[in-house]
Amino acid sequence: MEKRILLSSPHMSDEKFEEQFVQEAFDTNWIAPLGKNVDGFEKELAQYVGIDHAAALSSGTAAIHLALKAADVKAGDIVFCQSLTFSASVNPIIYQGAKPVFIDSDYDTWNMDPKALAKAFELYTPKAVIVVHLYGQSADMDPIIALCKKYNVSLIEDAAESLGTTYKGKHTGTLGDYGIYSFNGNKIITTSGGGMFVCNEAERTEKVRFWSTQSRDQAAHYQHSEIGYNYRMSNISAGIGRGQLKVLDDRVTKKRSIFARYKAGLSDISEITFPNENEWEFSNHWLSPMLVRGKVTPTIILEELEKHNIEGRPLWKPMHLQPIFEEFDFVGDKVAEDLFEKGLCLPSDSKMSEAEQDRVIEIIKSLFGE
Ligand SMILES: *Cc1c(COP(=O)(O)O)cnc(C)c1O
Repeated sequence: MEKRILLSSPHMSDEKFEEQFVQEAFDTNWIAPLGKNVDGFEKELAQYVGIDHAAALSSGTAAIHLALKAADVKAGDIVFCQSLTFSASVNPIIYQGAKPVFIDSDYDTWNMDPKALAKAFELYTPKAVIVVHLYGQSADMDPIIALCKKYNVSLIEDAAESLGTTYKGKHTGTLGDYGIYSFNGNKIITTSGGGMFVCNEAERTEKVRFWSTQSRDQAAHYQHSEIGYNYRMSNISAGIGRGQLKVLDDRVTKKRSIFARYKAGLSDISEITFPNENEWEFSNHWLSPMLVRGKVTPTIILEELEKHNIEGRPLWKPMHLQPIFEEFDFVGDKVAEDLFEKGLCLPSDSKMSEAEQDRVIEIIKSLFGE
């Protein structure tokens, strides 16, 4: 059996930057709490994406949860959320006792359809909107921002998968009121697990740090006037993050070249299409997804790849089709559903060699008799 080709795995720097930052934490016994790496990681990430403030947290999910609290989402409130996404975009809405209303995607971006969003605003009065930049592709933010402004509703960007992606020159995650990134093991950079909350308001960011460290009031005797969470990132994880940030641009370059090679390598097969690269975006192409329409289904392709020890994955199953969320409303048509049925993610591991990628391409072509 040939060596396994992975979908997307952790990729530490050749220079071992991550180990240097972690070693420094060991040398100073700054294993916990917080410390220099946490402060450094927040500053360096904020600078990279061009935003004023960042709070390092234990996961992207925790960051979404605290972004909802920052947007003052409370029990009974409605939150609009893109349906085609990972469940972690939605679960924190439920943690807050709020109700999601799911919004369809469009074929242009695979992300939130501004037309469906406009329709949803005619039906409901939400407290916040969560837009996702799936697989590193940017949503069309201008009409979404305009709608949120018109209705005076907070916009949260789930940029868990899109660190390094820009929309009209600005980093995804910095365009709405609040943004979040994830450093889970399969994301474009990883801290072994972690997330970041970003925004331009110092006071909101301070509040997020406060909630994430058990909401301890200024008092020696552990006084609490709000419910707290244990959501802060550790100084060790942040050290890994600082090292990874130094190679983020390299990872983006590699992921983009993987996407371009798939597109070129499979261009002869008319049944296969790739998402648009819209003129407004520079995508990090975290994963290379494609659509296939015809007799060869995504399942057939994924099974054939697996036979060759190659890991692919279906697209996210839309949230409005999930058993746990079936009671909640959905606004739109069948775009998210169609993308789910016809789509799959090709292995997009930044450690993959060109020869390995060619193997993937040849296996897929063979299914089409080429
Ligand atoms: C990974 C991911 C998250 C959650 O991030 P974690 O760090 O794993 O909690 C949220 N939303 C999307 C779209 C993701 O892909």
